[in-house]
Formats: sequence, C-alpha cells, structure tokens
Amino acid sequence: PPPPPVVHYSMNNITSSSDPVGNREAILILTPMAKFYQEYWDNLCQLSYPHELISLGFIIPKGKEGNLATKKLQERIAKTQAPSNKNRFASITILRQETESAVSQVESQRHAMAAQKERRAAMSKARNSLLFTTLGPTTSWVLWLDADVIETPSSLIQDLASHDKPIIAPNCWQRYYDKEEGAMLRRAYDFNNWQDSTTAQELAEKMGPDDIILEGYAEMATYRTLMAHMGDEQGDPGTLMELDGVGGTALLVKAEVHRDGAMFPPFSFYHLIETEGFAKMASRLKWQSYGLPNYFVYHYNE
Ligand code: GDP
Ligand code: MN
Repeated sequence: PPPPPVVHYSMNNITSSSDPVGNREAILILTPMAKFYQEYWDNLCQLSYPHELISLGFIIPKGKEGNLATKKLQERIAKTQAPSNKNRFASITILRQETESAVSQVESQRHAMAAQKERRAAMSKARNSLLFTTLGPTTSWVLWLDADVIETPSSLIQDLASHDKPIIAPNCWQRYYDKEEGAMLRRAYDFNNWQDSTTAQELAEKMGPDDIILEGYAEMATYRTLMAHMGDEQGDPGTLMELDGVGGTALLVKAEVHRDGAMFPPFSFYHLIETEGFAKMASRLKWQSYGLPNYFVYHYNE
C-alpha cells in the first residue's frame, strides 16, 4: 500500500523522564569530532543505555585531520553496525563541514585567549549545524559528548536523566601522571560549568557589545564559582548544583530545550558564547541548567 501522505507526531507523547529506559525514550548523542580517539569509541560502545534507542551524530571538519577522523570512524562503524551485531545503534549520521578547523588543534594554541572568540564561534556553528540536521520528531534527549571524552560510567545516560533536569552536566576532569607523587592523579578540566559572580557581571557591563567573557584565564579573573573545582572524589555523586554557564564536553539536554530554540550563539550573547551562551539562552527560555560536581567523566590528556 502507498505510504500515508502525512505523518503525525504528537509532541506531548515524547517524554523525557527520570526513567528513560522504562519509557523507551530516544536519545541522540552528538559529537563534534576533529580527531578520532579509540577510547572515545570504546566508551561509547560500552554505554548500557539500550543501543536501539541511541542515534549518533558527528560533525567533522574539512581537511587532512578531518579526513583521517572520518576514515577511522567509518571503520569502527562498519563493525559496530554489522547486521549480526545485536548491540548496534539505531542510526548514525556523519556531517562533513565545508571549513577546516579555525584554529590549530594543539592544546596550548587552542587555549590561547586571543584565539578563543574565533574558535568558539566556529564550534558554535558546528554544533548548531549538527543539532539542526539531526534532531528528529521522536528525539527525547540530546547528549553532547566531545570526541576526547574517553571515560564515563556506563550508566551515564540513565544517571544524568534520573535527575529529570532540562540541562545537566557531569564534572569533566582529566587523569594525568603526577611526577612528584609518582602516580596517576586527577585534575579539573572543563571550566565552563559555573555559577555567575558579580565580578563577571561588572566586567560584562564595561565591555563592548561584541566582547565575550572567557573562563579559566588569569588575564580575566571572573571569581565565578567553578564546578570543576568543587569535585569531591568521596562526595555523593548525586549532589546537584545550579549552573549559569555550561561546557559541552558532556551535557545532557532535554530535546524540548533545543526545540524551544536554545542553540549555541556563534556571537556575543550577553557577553557569552557557544555552550556558555547556550545556558544563558536556555535560561531566558526558563530552562535552568544543573551540574553534578561529584559525578565524573574524563577528558583525554594530550
Ligand atoms: P577543548 O577540550 O575545550 O579544548 O575543546 P576541543 O578542541 O577538544 O573541541 C571540542 C570538541 O569539538 C572536540 O570533540 C573536538 O574534537 C571538536 N572540534 C574541535 N574543533 C572542531 C572543528 O573545527 N569542527 C568540528 N566539527 N569539531 C571540532
Ligand atoms: Mn577537548
């Protein structure tokens, strides 16, 4: 028979609840990917959320490095998505950008303050392109997960969703070898999860309309409360805090928040950009962001 001419979706039926497995909620995991890390892929594959409810979306920059990342990703996908693999994902989309990475991928250059506005604007556009081309009418959740986040609990999605918050971020740290201690230790990595301060607001008042405030730079002390510094390895992983700015390394968002129009401003929005601008835009739409200071995920150490 011919397909029905119109497909109806009742948006009220798309729940995003504290029991996403029980309610069979579809999740879209979105990853901007400049480089492929095997540890990221292995971690993704070990997520215990039912894989038939997970769709994956990637956006990869143009150029040599992007070509290599695409090749490696496609090799892994070919295996994981084999029809014989019962654990395959629902669907996978790869977008290739028309532009190369705006800034060198070397950590020191990437993090230089002068390069930040251009780089964060390019990242915003990559995230927006990825989001607007892959968000479907049945998506309940969007999990933003950077390509260099290489270790998370396998119950990441269930754990974050259990709090039933519109936007929720785990604490992104980094494992490193400490020479003095002669041991692997852990340290804060993502400083974009923060609570605002009067200092930062006063700083913003004196700025030009296109200027942005950046976090984690001595040249621009904001005295914001940084979730990255509040992590307690012995603390209750369920402890919640409100956030005014969020990072994108790992971030669970109810699809409704994005559907309402909250995206990643590639320009100064209240003197904020990209993921921090997203939290601000969401808050203008009455969606509050939260963080879990004692629930950890880990970023690759370059
Ligand atoms: P940092 O950890 O805050 O320094 O940010 P990264 O440089 O790791 O970038 C965040 C995420 O975006 C990572 O998953 C990168 O692989 C990816 N990424 C970086 N630059 C680009 C780009 O130009 N285009 C795309 N599509 N992804 C990028
Ligand atoms: Mn990174």
